[in-house]
Amino acid sequence: MRKVSIFGATGSIGQNTIDLIRRDPAAYDVVALTGGQNIAQLAEDAIALKADVAVTANEALLGDLRDALAGSGIEAAAGAKAIAEAAARPADWVMSAIVGAAGLAPGLVALQQGATLALANKESLVTAGHLIMGTAEKHGGRILPVDSEHSAVFQGLVGEDMDAVERIIITASGGAFRDWTLEDMARATPEQASSHPNWNMGQRITVDSASMFNKALEVIETKEFFGCAHEQIEVLVHPESLVHALVGFKDGALMAHVGPPDMRHAIGYALHWPERKDLPVSRLDLAQIGSLHFRAPDLERYPALRLAHEVLEIGGHAGAMFNAAKERALDAFLDHRIGFLQMAEVVEEVLAQLSPSHCLKNAEMSLDTVMETDHLARKTADEIMQKMA
Ligand code: NAD
Ligand code: MG
Repeated sequence: MRKVSIFGATGSIGQNTIDLIRRDPAAYDVVALTGGQNIAQLAEDAIALKADVAVTANEALLGDLRDALAGSGIEAAAGAKAIAEAAARPADWVMSAIVGAAGLAPGLVALQQGATLALANKESLVTAGHLIMGTAEKHGGRILPVDSEHSAVFQGLVGEDMDAVERIIITASGGAFRDWTLEDMARATPEQASSHPNWNMGQRITVDSASMFNKALEVIETKEFFGCAHEQIEVLVHPESLVHALVGFKDGALMAHVGPPDMRHAIGYALHWPERKDLPVSRLDLAQIGSLHFRAPDLERYPALRLAHEVLEIGGHAGAMFNAAKERALDAFLDHRIGFLQMAEVVEEVLAQLSPSHCLKNAEMSLDTVMETDHLARKTADEIMQKMA
């Protein structure tokens, strides 16, 4: 039996992971499940999967979690430290599906144990790509991408040499505002930004899809994971969300990955890698679909894409600044404190203020320096937003 843990088990990726594991319970020995506010879901899954420990990020909810697990023999714990401790428990395969920078520390701990890390938490690579890739290398752990585009690129590179790669193209649906004008986007509400045309995901990543901050994070994630130059990375708008990524080779060939917009494909690929197993995803009928569409992204409506390349040019801790500023700006937008397009203005201003003096070098990167940068960028974003109000 493979020992598995799921961080962010109650979220969209976590629940899809549990769906796959519950189809073959005899194959898995579940060590740890973690969640946040949804104690009922966390306890229900921990009991169904016979986990050793269930952890909520919210310390105030520890009593509720204990009550829900009473009599099951499953340990209950709470807080960020308890989540990191759960990551230190030996496991063969660990799903990193916490949303935001909070996902970095448990992923690092799991890699230090030599675990295979299925990485949905893109913020880990954006904030600390150098650190997380270095930790995997040092401890013999492996990282398997779960973001659909990166899983697609990873699959396109099987048996290939990175030296033969000319470019990597990741696709974007265009999100909720694909066909909106700049003026309409300026007035967009959180409710409008929270519905995705093709994918069913957590609210934060759905809003990030509408602003293309999600794609910007993924451009950075691509560079950090595959080690290519940022000039080799392209974004292509593809409204159908069926082609997830393409790898362009030196001989002109483009290898496209085509599949239904169902995260259980990428999760299942990482779960069964290096094998491929039957997965409960729908099969595409291309004759019925008939045509696929592609267009270049409009950088005026999606400034986040331009900022991603700036971040990669600056290097060092710029990714941590970018992500932290984006998280604060997203909080403010969801709270109706700033407008939709102001999110990118806040992030750009944070980069302008901090990057000349606070970027450090990759060689100086540690969890502490990343978290310090993260805190500073959040504080700076808050100051900038106060002046905007
Ligand atoms: P979600 O909001 O549905 O779930 C997030 C999970 O993290 C929940 O279990 C929540 O309890 C937990 N969590 C939230 N804040 C936490 C904190 N401070 N400390 C500890 N745990 C915390 O998010 P999601 O859509 O499942 O996305 C998870 C990650 O996967 C994100 O990094 C996202 O970018 C990435 N991702 C998601 C999808 C998708 O289809 N949903 C696709 C690609 C990548
Ligand atoms: Mg993605």
